[in-house]
Amino acid sequence: MIIDNINISDNDMKQINKNTRKDFTRDDIYTFEITLCDSELDANYEAISKDCLYKLKDLSLGSSGFLTSDIMARIFDTYIEKVFISRSNSILAEETYKLKAKAYVFKNAITEEELNHILNHSEISVGFSVKRRVCSICGSSECSKHIKGQKYVDEAGIKQLCYNLLNDPTDFYEWSVVPKQQESKSNDNKPKENKVAIVKTKLMINGKLTDVKLDENGGITIIKPKKQVTGWEKYTSVQKYNNEIIFYFNGFEKIDKRKANANILTDNNLYTIANYYTNEKLAENISRMQTLQRKMFRWQAENDEPIKPDAAKTKYYIMYNIEDKEFNIGCTYTKLFTSLPYFSSRQKALQCIHTFKDELIWFFTEFQWRTDYDNNSISCKESSVNKND
Ligand SMILES: [Zn+2]
Repeated sequence: MIIDNINISDNDMKQINKNTRKDFTRDDIYTFEITLCDSELDANYEAISKDCLYKLKDLSLGSSGFLTSDIMARIFDTYIEKVFISRSNSILAEETYKLKAKAYVFKNAITEEELNHILNHSEISVGFSVKRRVCSICGSSECSKHIKGQKYVDEAGIKQLCYNLLNDPTDFYEWSVVPKQQESKSNDNKPKENKVAIVKTKLMINGKLTDVKLDENGGITIIKPKKQVTGWEKYTSVQKYNNEIIFYFNGFEKIDKRKANANILTDNNLYTIANYYTNEKLAENISRMQTLQRKMFRWQAENDEPIKPDAAKTKYYIMYNIEDKEFNIGCTYTKLFTSLPYFSSRQKALQCIHTFKDELIWFFTEFQWRTDYDNNSISCKESSVNKND
């Protein structure tokens, strides 16, 4: 819902301008209100506790979110709204809580009509992590007796649904606006009474300890060992509050991480440009390699002449002999391009090696672009390279 800026107080404006380089006025921005999350049970049988919502209120203040894949908005105020919901299975209205937020977006980024359309046809997706999930039946955070989504009869003979209460949020990563998914949601919210309880365990099968699933009817399914991961996989069916973490290069020599959320546009954008890793070391490797590349291309631009894709001209490039542990300069007429720059002369290539020697040795001997490589295939990890070259 778009807010009339008449209702934006001077205090609100102060909050907004806290995060901006110059001072903006009410004429520069649209402000709007959204519900970030609430204490209702979700399709995954998880609910955010009231206490957790209050902590998220503080954590989400000031956070940015995506309205579209390239338009950002920022939250400048958050508050908790108490609402009463009457349910069909109960005479008493039930108290629930919503975490509401006020956000602003710059007028030069979007029109009022577009903003209205987005807000009316979307829902909000949030990403945060929690320290504890508590069983609604026994209150334990390490409950192994109750399965969420199942019903259990209590001492008074009343059936109680088991779900997880999310507690102690540690991080609020992001919020974003995503298209509504009305059809499936209403069905998903209904607890499935005939759901079969499945227990995972290990069994000795043919002398080997094997992961298996046991169902209530005594059926056993062998769980296949996990496929080796390369670190480039995309989480496709991430449940809202699971703990899959993705890593990405933030452009400032730092790897950021946050919880994966398959519904969040940013995840898709990061994946599209291949800046989405499930392994931190991999993200670091790729980033380090790319920094070296950029530095070397810049060095070539600053210290050497342009290299044209001209078959008549000799082009020099850097090689590394893994067995002899020494650098070589190759030359070619036609080959263009490698992942490292070309040089106009052997001399320039040698100068460049000299400038980036340690990083180049790392690149040629240790750099890996996937996490499932065979360690033995890299022969000279200790790299006692001749550094006088
Ligand atoms: Zn329990």
